[in-house]
Formats: sequence, C-alpha cells, structure tokens
Amino acid sequence: MAQNTEIEIARKIPVGISSCLLGQEVRYNGGHKRSRYCLEVLADCFAFEPFCPEMAIGLGVPREPIRLVAPKGEPARALGTVNNGLDVTDALLESGRRLAQQRSHLRGYILMKGSPSCGLERVKVYHPNGMPNTASSGVFVRALREANPLLPMEEEARLNDPVLRENFIARVFAYDDWIDSVHSAPSYHNLIRFHSRQKYLLMAHHYESYRQLGRLLGQARQYPLGVALERYITTFMAAMARPATRKSHSNVLQHILGYLKRAIDSECRQALLQSIEQYRRGLVPLVVPLTLLKHYLQRYGSDYIRAQSYLDPYPHELGLRNAL
Ligand code: SF4
Repeated sequence: MAQNTEIEIARKIPVGISSCLLGQEVRYNGGHKRSRYCLEVLADCFAFEPFCPEMAIGLGVPREPIRLVAPKGEPARALGTVNNGLDVTDALLESGRRLAQQRSHLRGYILMKGSPSCGLERVKVYHPNGMPNTASSGVFVRALREANPLLPMEEEARLNDPVLRENFIARVFAYDDWIDSVHSAPSYHNLIRFHSRQKYLLMAHHYESYRQLGRLLGQARQYPLGVALERYITTFMAAMARPATRKSHSNVLQHILGYLKRAIDSECRQALLQSIEQYRRGLVPLVVPLTLLKHYLQRYGSDYIRAQSYLDPYPHELGLRNAL
C-alpha cells in the first residue's frame, strides 16, 4: 500500500486527524496508534492537523477509559468505565462543534476506529446493566458531522481497503477544489466551471446524481445563488461518498473514448476497447486502460476532456488506481 515515490504537490491539503494516529501518546493508557500510511504516504499531500478531543476537554494521561452507554433507543452518552458519575458527553459534543468552527479550513478528517469519542461508526454502546447493546458513532464525531456534514471523513483502519481508501482521498481532493474555486468565490459561472471539470468523476460515482445535477445546473439561475450552491454541493458530496465500481468506471472510460472517435484509427480504438473490457472483467487494474486513454488524449483530446478531474483526481504517485 505504501509508495516510495515522493509526491510533488503545489500545496498540501489541510486534513484533521485523531492525534493518536500521528503517534502522539494521548490514549487513556499513555499509548498511541501511529499510522504508517498516514505518516509515510498521505503526509506527502495532506498537512495533518492533529486533535485529541479527550485531551482537549481536560482528561489527562493516563485517564479512566470512557465508553458509550445508553438504554435501547436513546442517544449514547460517554461515561467513565469505573466511575459512572463521570459523564463527558456534553463536553465532547461542545469540543466537536468548536473544532468545526475553528478549523473550517479542513478538507477532510481521519479518525481512530472504535473510540467512544473519535470512532466514525460501529462503536460499541453498552446497556446501563453493562451488556453490549448496539453501536453508534463516537460523541465528538457526532457533533463534528452535524456541524459540517460535507466534510469527508474516514477511519484510518478502513484506509486498508483499496476502494474505501481511493474513495476518501478522491472526496478530499474534490472538496478542496470546491472550497477553493466555488465556496471562496461564489458565482454561477464558477459553479458551472466546477461541474464541467468534475462531470466524469461524478458520473463514475453515481450516475443518477450526475443526471440530477446536470438538470439542477440547467435551472440554477432560477434559484438564489446560495440555494443553488447548497443544493449542488450537498448532492455532489453524497454522490462522491458512493464508491465507484468497475462497471461505472468502464462506462466513464467508454464515454471518454467517444471524444477520440475521429482522431484515432480503428486499430487503436480496438486496443482501447479491449483494455477497458479487460478492466471490466477484473483482469487488469484501472490504471491500465486509463494510461492508454490518457496517452491518446494528450495528443488528440480537446481542452475540455483533458481538463476532466476524472483523469487525475489526486497525485498519481499515490498509486491508488493500481489497486482498483
Ligand atoms: S480521543 Fe481520539 S485522538 Fe484522543 S486518544 Fe482517543 S481516539 Fe485518539
């Protein structure tokens, strides 16, 4: 999974991360959960901003561990495992809200799994009688997500899965593009330009949303600008959270191939079609047909198609498409 190639990037993207994943000794027992992938690979393109909510609310190291407790159907509270009177739920919720406000420049967040504060999902919730009951999100994350539902989030452990890893990184780069090019300079024109270069990436993630957003753009000027932008980015980020499949990538590759129709002879076209088919059947990774396609696009493609974020949604040195 780790790459040795140094990544050249104009500017590192600010991404929040659970402090223990960067090797900081902030866990309840004074330990850490250092992530090699984050430190040795992603740190080349992300400017990590560590944060430990439990330290931020004044729980020291070492400390009494906390866990989520709730009677069935009620929202989980974060309580001490030894001292049930220790209830840090409200403090953790406040810490999540404050972080969302103070670090609104973040483009993504990587979290520690299973933590009653930082876990994104499937964190054990106990019944007050001590028996495991159900599962939920960590309390800090709950508040962070409520305050900024657009922020791409993922658990570090899930980055071991090539599809989830690629999906998270693609979302961070797309969200970064949105903030830089539309959110910071809102206009219908910038919205249309954003959609125009993200079109095929969006299509790969969710075809229905691609169609829906195309229709929305057709009528965008009928809405106040703020409303149009809000509707657009909410649907866009939800679509991006759906991992693209071999079938949807193959569909996009075929569409892009259509732009070369007149420029290449039938032999080249057959080779490209064959490569896409091999990818669709799982015989070669995505990088194979894509490299071939990009080779011809560089020579014969229009500016429009060459500007598609789908072709290079993140630095290729990350090698993400070698594993798809
Ligand atoms: S609260 Fe979060 S950052 Fe702090 S030790 Fe636990 S998982 Fe790590």
